[in-house]
Amino acid sequence: MSPAAGMRALERFREVAADPRAELARVKERSGLAAVGYFDSYLPEELIMAHGLIPYRVTVDGRDDVRSMEYIQAYACPAARNLLDQALRGDLDLLDGALFTRYCDSLRGVFAVWDAEHLTPYVDFVRYPTVTTTEAAVQYLAAELREVSARMATALDAPVDEHHLREAIVACDRKRALVAELARRRAAREMALQGSDYLGILVAATTMLPDDFTQELSALMAHPPAGEPGDALPVVLSGTTFDNVRLAASIEQAGLCLVADDLASGSRWYGVQVEAMMGAAPLVSGGGPGAVGATAEASATATGGPSLAGGAGDPWTALARAYLTKPPCSVKEPAEPRADHLLAQVRASGAAGVVFYLTKFCESEEVEWPYLRDRLEAEGVPVVMIEGEHRSAGFEQVRTRLEAFREQVEGF
Ligand code: SF4
Repeated sequence: MSPAAGMRALERFREVAADPRAELARVKERSGLAAVGYFDSYLPEELIMAHGLIPYRVTVDGRDDVRSMEYIQAYACPAARNLLDQALRGDLDLLDGALFTRYCDSLRGVFAVWDAEHLTPYVDFVRYPTVTTTEAAVQYLAAELREVSARMATALDAPVDEHHLREAIVACDRKRALVAELARRRAAREMALQGSDYLGILVAATTMLPDDFTQELSALMAHPPAGEPGDALPVVLSGTTFDNVRLAASIEQAGLCLVADDLASGSRWYGVQVEAMMGAAPLVSGGGPGAVGATAEASATATGGPSLAGGAGDPWTALARAYLTKPPCSVKEPAEPRADHLLAQVRASGAAGVVFYLTKFCESEEVEWPYLRDRLEAEGVPVVMIEGEHRSAGFEQVRTRLEAFREQVEGF
């Protein structure tokens, strides 16, 4: 592999991140396969791949539109509205299906419109348990994944194949582990890669086919771009899903270096390792004997939902366990593991502070922010919160605040 292969891989990632839908078109044309979109990091892409289908995480493109306002409340978050706008404009016509999870109220609103307006030929919903810390929740989700799989097989005439599922688990584990290694090397300053390029690679990781992505990232890591760490202030970027590479570049133009992340689409995603969960010990509930699981079970029974099944070595149970035990987003409980995870990112990267990006109208992040701020401040970690709509336009005021934050931290 030549040194030029590293630069070519970086250019490819930049191209994919700049126009993820063009990559989807290329993959569909090359493979002739149907594609299923999804929206958050709790949806296992392995579920889609088990049917021989293309998984595609729909990313926020930051383009202004008001069409979605006709369908959902104006207080739905701008990220969710943007996802709906893309579908209403016809930008997602390449999708044959869409899978939602019980993630947040805004995305649930998007699902309701998507379903009613038939924005893709097939649309379905994975009923995730809200609390994630009990064995009953694991078994409930495993059964739910099987049920959704059965409906998808019928709707898209794409039977599930357990061999495909196991191959998908291996391929996705491999790419996530490689992204984790990339993040580790950046955090250790072993690799000079701008934060905006790192964010672009995160977008590409759920846009490209896993083996293709892994091959390109291996080339980049074998021949990384040359460069020295500058004097920018190293910070951790914390938030939900964050796809706007240009916005990340704007943050860095304020003299900050996004050296690590606590994002739903970043470090709270790439740590998922499903194979390691094959035959893992059952969860022991911290919230009383079966308290949360009982809720999930009761809900399943009341709605005629799935029965509880699966055991050691069962790939569906391993999928459920791996996705439920990743560092939680603010839409799930409890909050402590997310704060622990964020602090671990700060310590491992030697970051001097945290930039918390609050998506406007994101209730769960608004609720979690004071707790995260207090935990960080108790540990002596400076933090600044910026609120935005995932658009880089009109970012000047925020840049001034970030420059002030940098001066404040450097003045300590
Ligand atoms: S930013 Fe918040 S409200 Fe918007 S889609 Fe993400 S979790 Fe939901």
